[in-house]
Amino acid sequence: MKFGTKVLHAGIVPDPTTGAIMTPIFQTSTYVQEAPGKHKGFEYARTQNPTRAILEKNLAALENAKFGRCFSSGMGATDAVIKLLAPGDEVICTHDLYGGTYRLFKSIYQNYGIIFKFVDLQDLKAVKQAFNQKTKMIWIESPTNPMMRIVDITAMVSIAKTYHSWVCVDNTFATPYLQNPINLGADIVVHSVTKYISGHSDVVMGAVITDDDALDDKIGYIQNSVGAIPSPNDCFLVLRGIKTLHIRMDRHCENGKKIALFLKDHPSVNQVFWPGFKEHPNHQLATKQMLQFGGMISFTLKKDHINFAFKLMGKLKLFSLAESLGGVESLIGHPASMTHASIPKEERLKSGLTDSLIRLSVGIEDVDDLIEDLRQAIEF
Ligand SMILES: *Cc1c(COP(=O)(O)O)cnc(C)c1O
Repeated sequence: MKFGTKVLHAGIVPDPTTGAIMTPIFQTSTYVQEAPGKHKGFEYARTQNPTRAILEKNLAALENAKFGRCFSSGMGATDAVIKLLAPGDEVICTHDLYGGTYRLFKSIYQNYGIIFKFVDLQDLKAVKQAFNQKTKMIWIESPTNPMMRIVDITAMVSIAKTYHSWVCVDNTFATPYLQNPINLGADIVVHSVTKYISGHSDVVMGAVITDDDALDDKIGYIQNSVGAIPSPNDCFLVLRGIKTLHIRMDRHCENGKKIALFLKDHPSVNQVFWPGFKEHPNHQLATKQMLQFGGMISFTLKKDHINFAFKLMGKLKLFSLAESLGGVESLIGHPASMTHASIPKEERLKSGLTDSLIRLSVGIEDVDDLIEDLRQAIEF
């Protein structure tokens, strides 16, 4: 089954009791048993919920995997994966990690004796040096935020295999439409479903996807034991959002390309970070690893001062100033003062994250209007 069919049909069956074509919202906390232990496969709603079960099957299929597990947020999903580990275990992760993931690793799990090594995953030599017998997992994001660097997932898998380490990819930015880490050899895929998968800025949810029976058993055990599960209503909203994922992504990518090209030619713009440019240092890799290049773009201004970035953002009418990404409406963010404010300026500058860096989550509006909005805001 191809992607555009899977979003509508994979794992989704009409409700057996009524024939309802839309998956019902099973808003229940428990299920009546005929006799003790004699039930229809559903005992208690932390453990199983039919709305959630259908969403989990659908998400697994989108990543070409067997198993999916949904959590109350992307961070809840990430937390479940780290709970696979024990004190003394080491994790190698990308040095430009999503801020919330960095916080969870550094300020929560480090206290429990898990060791996190932050490495530039584009530097294969440094990655190889960071591995040792205690390395249990490598945590990858690609494209990275906000610099849109691409990490070679296949290369990471081949290094990790020699140490029998798990490879986990946070696939939030790419979505299962543009990139399938399981096909590249990854063991686990994590999503902040909140972003593109849900797509309508109205749900917070996460997912863990794997093709490995033993890993899924463990994740399911953690999901049930910890209980960071999403509500049936949110599962319904995500199932509804997913039906248009491929169409939305095509438009995000198409609009993204036109806006990247507009920015590149603008005399007030300094650099534009978007993996679709031939000059992007990872363009070849992005072409190999991704179907298209996405709708996330970052750029800097020639007048590299925070005041100019703020002035520009203040003049925009269609791009809303907000954290988050991946919704149908366009968003703009200023990493230095918003998502990445907790990183010391020196560290930020090392990775190119200057004071004028602006990040766009390009929506699915008419691109002419989006470009006109940017044009009137950048004139200074
Ligand atoms: C938003 C995000 C998360 C966290 O997801 P929540 O649903 O906000 O908890 C993790 N990784 C990436 C790349 C994200 O963008």
